[in-house]
Amino acid sequence: MTAKEIARRADEAGLRLVRFLWCGNDGTVRAKASARHGLEGRLERGIGVTVAMQAMNGLDQLQPVPDMGPVGEYRLVPDLETFRELPYAPRSGALLTDHLNLDGTPAAVCQRSFLKRMEATLAERGLVLEAAFENEFSLAARVAGAYVPVDSGLCFSTIAMTASQDFADALAGALEAQGIVLEQYYAELGHGQQEISTGHAPALRAADEQVLVRETIRGVASSLGLVASLAPKPWPDNAGNGGHVHFSLWEGERNRFYDGGLSELARAFIAGVLAHLPGLCGLTAPSFNSYRRIVPRYWAGAYTCWGLDNREAPVRVASPYWNREEGSYNVELKACDSSSNPHLALAGTIAAGLDGIARRVEPGEPATIDPAKLPEGSVERLPASLEAVLALLESDEALTRAMGAEMTSTYLRFKRSEIDAYAGADPEQVAAEHRYKF
Ligand code: GLU
Ligand code: MG
Repeated sequence: MTAKEIARRADEAGLRLVRFLWCGNDGTVRAKASARHGLEGRLERGIGVTVAMQAMNGLDQLQPVPDMGPVGEYRLVPDLETFRELPYAPRSGALLTDHLNLDGTPAAVCQRSFLKRMEATLAERGLVLEAAFENEFSLAARVAGAYVPVDSGLCFSTIAMTASQDFADALAGALEAQGIVLEQYYAELGHGQQEISTGHAPALRAADEQVLVRETIRGVASSLGLVASLAPKPWPDNAGNGGHVHFSLWEGERNRFYDGGLSELARAFIAGVLAHLPGLCGLTAPSFNSYRRIVPRYWAGAYTCWGLDNREAPVRVASPYWNREEGSYNVELKACDSSSNPHLALAGTIAAGLDGIARRVEPGEPATIDPAKLPEGSVERLPASLEAVLALLESDEALTRAMGAEMTSTYLRFKRSEIDAYAGADPEQVAAEHRYKF
């Protein structure tokens, strides 16, 4: 699509504002919007944004990162293919953007450009990563200032489904209007907990759509006077919200994860993901509260292991559909949540998997039971805090090489500031703050 075509569509739809979106290191989706006046030029040349935003943590506290203070500018340059009219915001459209330096090159800290680099590395092997996100979220009403779940129904219960049926219908309609394929919807385990799965797409498009899906979930809820939270643990004692990623590697029309069963390539990719998982979690489950979610017996994958249809394993090989085995064969990473930047989460997963392929590592035997029940010492627990995963990310050569030195140091400093901000805080207070951030 060209800038001219988008401007024409904006006129036809009567749009007044077009949001230039980006997702920051803190998983917050932020935007600057262009009015109709000057839209074409901004679509072509972007909108300026202070370099400081990349160093602004999830509490809007500017971190002391070199060259990310009050002086300096990036351009938010949109990918015109991502243009959508927004069904949940009046007369508004949106696009995903890259962070470019003023000379037009991708900024070292641009998460979307990192994912493009990883896609290009896969392409050198003739491979494309297809991915889909599965979003769990909690739907609540604000009653006298409190955040009250819309139901107390049971897992998959139709009573819970009924409680949210108007919301679910509006959500399905809003996704459809944006050309995002909805696969399934249900009310899940926790109070007010909902889940949707959307169709798979090549990595960059999957990450872009994940941003749009999060925006849609929250936007539709807000338009109905509700609050949807994708926070990993909106209540300390209720079920957590995962943002599981399903993925497979394709070469043309062939799913290379499948050769009548789990292929060698898939095994090596899984082994790479497992080998790097403790550090990778710094990208896929990167908020202070992520580690209240990733605990044993909550089906979030708290041990470094994989399994076939094992929902306590962070890496699960999912049973394929009958008569569509090749098309549906995929692996799920459960140690991922929606406080992540989806571009970083997918880029990191590719870097980990590629390292497994390059080194031809073996994933070992799959766990056939709940890993919590395995004999002590036979399976490793994933790190139980943000602090621990960041230390492992910092020392993970494959991941930090893929990210690049500047992105790594900015990211670590930024994330560590969240640890400082929440250290010693009461779990209820942390949950309450995260509720409205994601
Ligand atoms: N709610 C779980 C999580 O935090 C996942 C439950 C499921 O297997 O769908 O990841
Ligand atoms: Mg679920």
